[in-house]
Amino acid sequence: MLRRPTNKGITEEDLHAAARDIFTLGWSLVKLYFMIGLPTETGEDILQIVRLAGCVKNIGKEASGRWPQINVSASSFIPKPHTPFQWEPQITMEDGIQKQAVLRRELAKLKLGFKWHDADMSLIEGVFSRGDRRLSKAVLIAFRKGCRFDGWSELFDFAKWKEGLSEAGLDPHFYTLRRRPFDEVFPWDHLETGATKEFLIKEYEKALELAGTPDCKAGKCSDCGLCDWKAIRPRSASGAIGCADEAKTPVLPDEVFRMRLRYSKTGESRLLSHLELMAAVIRGIRRAGLPIRYSQGFHPMPRLSFGQPLPVGIESVDEYMDMELSGKTDPAGLVEKLNREMPEGIRFLSASFLPLKVPLPSGIMTEYIITLKDGPLGLDIDSERIDGLLRDFLSRDSIPVSIEKEGRTKDVDLRPLVNGLSRTDGLTLRLMLKKASGASVRPHDVLACLLGLPRESASLIPILKTRSVQ
Ligand code: SF4
Repeated sequence: MLRRPTNKGITEEDLHAAARDIFTLGWSLVKLYFMIGLPTETGEDILQIVRLAGCVKNIGKEASGRWPQINVSASSFIPKPHTPFQWEPQITMEDGIQKQAVLRRELAKLKLGFKWHDADMSLIEGVFSRGDRRLSKAVLIAFRKGCRFDGWSELFDFAKWKEGLSEAGLDPHFYTLRRRPFDEVFPWDHLETGATKEFLIKEYEKALELAGTPDCKAGKCSDCGLCDWKAIRPRSASGAIGCADEAKTPVLPDEVFRMRLRYSKTGESRLLSHLELMAAVIRGIRRAGLPIRYSQGFHPMPRLSFGQPLPVGIESVDEYMDMELSGKTDPAGLVEKLNREMPEGIRFLSASFLPLKVPLPSGIMTEYIITLKDGPLGLDIDSERIDGLLRDFLSRDSIPVSIEKEGRTKDVDLRPLVNGLSRTDGLTLRLMLKKASGASVRPHDVLACLLGLPRESASLIPILKTRSVQ
């Protein structure tokens, strides 16, 4: 079996013991996940999947007195960048289909359920897993042909992806089936994860010899390069061999500084979701080498807090975030360093130190500037008509609307939430929105109601958040 070369760190006895516990505790359905197509895999390894699943079924019968339901799931192994198998070819589609057929036939004999990952989907995943910038053309072509939500098997259209790759002049097998030489320069070589190529080559050679690397949390440090022994270090390996002295030095409370940063999110970056924004900022902080503090859990995360998420599509020049630092740094220098690492459209504007416990501004009132003449909607409207709509809107005491949010519809009275709405110049509006009794609406909801547009159309109107008022 191939658990050792992939460093899974569990034995068959561990699996048996876990299965026995599960069935003894009353569970009757167990799902077993396997990977097929790993380097060094043989036909015998595939049959061992069937044997192991059969064993788990028998353990279920022994432990509970009735036959349990065992569902086996197998997906094809896809080599990933920055891993020891980044030089290896991926299993061919034909091999994948043939191995799935063996599993389907043999598992059916034992009355075990079987689910598999489509081999054509695995091929496309493999192409993009170790792809390069030339693939962007194929993505655009496939998108224009209608490819969307390709992770959902019912919408995945292999034929369109094949056409996209071929029209972009690309051979998928160049990405998936080549054994790459150790000296090949990869498209991801400029990204630093900490693990060196020398370390990955050593791990690759060990994997081919079916030798594992012990988990450093419980044993010896293999010097993979991930720890810097200051901010990043294995939590449960403080006594492990190889720990540098500074790794044992906790950060003292008086070395913690909280910095508040104001930033803007404009241009194409307005289309980043809150999670994508957070990921971009975290990457920027790492690249800038800031002395950021990390949480102390099993999975250390940078200690950052962001203000209220900005709705996707809206630009802003008044966003806030806090970060905890383990050293005092010049705020202006920090802003400059950070801005060098941020994607276009995200700009840090200022930074200052604050006491540790000051909460982020939540903004009870927010000002937006709305430009009706720009944007892809091409509104056929003039200032006189706008003035009439504004007069009508503001003269009403109550404007009940139904707003859809995260699949649920909520009835809201818009009127008390609009603190001000006026035309400032030409076709530019100024909107002041406030929160009242915990209720809030988005500016596009107000525009949809004011202009009598569907919500989807209103969301194409350019909006800039200019300030939050506390
Ligand atoms: S202790 Fe850190 S550097 Fe050593 S092997 Fe583990 S993760 Fe890598």
